[in-house]
Amino acid sequence: MGSALVVVGAGVIGCAVAAAASDLFDRVVLLDARPDTGLAASWAAIGGITPQSDDFCRGPLRQFAEASRRMYPQWLAGLEAGSGIAVPFLDSGLLQVALDPSEQRRVQEQLVPQWVEQGFRVEQLDAGSTAQAEPLLSPAVLSAVRLPSEGALEPRVLMSALREVVRRDPRIEVVASARVRGVTPGAQGVEVLLEGGGVVRGDRCVVAAGAWSPELVPSRPGGQFPVRGQAAELVVPGSGGYPLRHHVYCKVALDDTTVSSYVVPRHDGRVVVGVTYDQGRWDEEPEDRATERLLAALRLVVPASRDWRLVGSWAGIRPGTADGYPLVGNADADGRVVMATGHFGVGITLAPITAALVRSILSGAGLTAGQADALRVMDPRRFL
Ligand SMILES: Cc1cc2nc3c(=O)[nH]c(=O)nc-3n(C[C@H](O)[C@H](O)[C@H](O)COP(=O)(O)OP(=O)(O)OC[C@H]3O[C@@H](n4cnc5c(N)ncnc54)[C@H](O)[C@@H]3O)c2cc1C
Repeated sequence: MGSALVVVGAGVIGCAVAAAASDLFDRVVLLDARPDTGLAASWAAIGGITPQSDDFCRGPLRQFAEASRRMYPQWLAGLEAGSGIAVPFLDSGLLQVALDPSEQRRVQEQLVPQWVEQGFRVEQLDAGSTAQAEPLLSPAVLSAVRLPSEGALEPRVLMSALREVVRRDPRIEVVASARVRGVTPGAQGVEVLLEGGGVVRGDRCVVAAGAWSPELVPSRPGGQFPVRGQAAELVVPGSGGYPLRHHVYCKVALDDTTVSSYVVPRHDGRVVVGVTYDQGRWDEEPEDRATERLLAALRLVVPASRDWRLVGSWAGIRPGTADGYPLVGNADADGRVVMATGHFGVGITLAPITAALVRSILSGAGLTAGQADALRVMDPRRFL
């Protein structure tokens, strides 16, 4: 019969793990409840590769996140070779801009010193040089910092490439519309019970079911939770390339609240703007009110967006965790069930390194000191 791996969940993490680990097994079964791969959070993501600007990256997983960013060019080249699909990558960096003095102080007094201390590259731009670097930004911008190592891509193109890679791999069997009801480790292997009564057996099972993972491997109350996020897409009339030179992040005062405006240009004249954070919500229907607020914030950052055409909005469910760190590693004493979930707002950023780490766990190869450190932080048993 040969050795078998079962991967539950075909989002960016499950697909990346299946592709990275397929040569370790005779057979990999990649199961997803939805009609195709990559239709949940990974489809909804905006696509920032943000090892520096995301809060979580200033903590103990900083080097893990940076290593993932460094893996990206080669990882995408490998996906292109295996799929025939190129994933355009914007590597001019992220502009974190300040529109008011209090945000300017927060960036300068809190963020920049931390980044500098941790060895990140930070370029300071005054109002004039910000306008030169990104002419479409509001003239009200006071200053910006450019974070040159932050990248951006379109997650739906990434997921198309990953879908093709797993479909072309002769060892991987992709089974869509297959909802898993239970994962039971035993002495001989793992039994994965499907809705409708079918059972898939494997030697090991990787649970990569995103926000839904606690349905399969229960978490202590409050350990893992959904964080709904909404985004919108616009077309910039007459633009055939990237409408902005950078991806842009700004905290904006809107009515009496502060909202995050994250603006990511696409290679073909589109722009995506996000993003909201609604903890505890499961619904994936976008709301008009949230879209209106995203667009209002965008107009403050990029006034020309008044003339851009809204073409869509959507919501997705991030897999949140109480301490903000993913769950990666063995869930049971024998290592039959391996978790790869809880990536919250950085699952696209961390996909290549998560896949490589899960491959190392499955192969039994010795871990590097850096991998062992990261695994201690991400040990799933802290929540199980
Ligand atoms: C609006 C928004 C913007 C974001 N922007 C960014 C960003 O800029 N950069 C970044 O790095 N990250 C971003 N993220 C976060 C990123 O999308 C997630 O961290 C990442 O997609 C998680 O990947 P995943 O594979 O774990 O989960 P998912 O993509 O959700 O995949 C989980 C899969 O498991 C399947 N599944 C669930 N339960 C079962 C079951 N019982 N049986 C079988 N299959 C099951 C689901 O159908 C799904 O396909 C964003 C997220 C949102 C919502």
